[in-house]
Amino acid sequence: MLINLSDIIKDNDGKLELSESFEMPTTDFLGEEFTFSEPCLLEGVILNNTKSLELKGKVTGKMGVHCARCGKPLTVDLEDPVEEILVREDAVFPEDEDVIVYSGSEVELMEAIVNGFLLNVSGKFLCSEDCKGLCSICGANLNEGDCGCNREYIDPRLEKLAEIMKNMSDTE
Ligand SMILES: [Zn+2]
Ligand SMILES: [Zn+2]
Repeated sequence: MLINLSDIIKDNDGKLELSESFEMPTTDFLGEEFTFSEPCLLEGVILNNTKSLELKGKVTGKMGVHCARCGKPLTVDLEDPVEEILVREDAVFPEDEDVIVYSGSEVELMEAIVNGFLLNVSGKFLCSEDCKGLCSICGANLNEGDCGCNREYIDPRLEKLAEIMKNMSDTE
């Protein structure tokens, strides 16, 4: 997502309002595939503080994920704060400072937005707080009714282990 900065670069103390819709790329992370069937929205403002440009805003959208217990596809809200410092490539700036460097009068924000998303997102979503998950014996979705398997004899510690094994195979 390229943002044209030409108006704000020249204008010390200037302010550029942003409302940009953009395509967020499908992102694999923590064993989940995050998909975005609709464009996301970046809303915010870029302020010129004479030394650098400060971007403050948020990214909102809808993302497709899966229930961590039963695997059902879910659509959940995405809302990530975005705070970045933009500096021109020829500006003198401490090297360890975490900034976005731009050249000319345009800045590319996609990488920073995806990185911010990865910092904020968790890999665990549930279709409902009391999702019953899948039968540990036959794999049936227990939210749709009982499959009739006798799971009662399972030692709770073994069940915990089965859950861990399942999470491990889920994240492969
Ligand atoms: Zn579920
Ligand atoms: Zn079953």
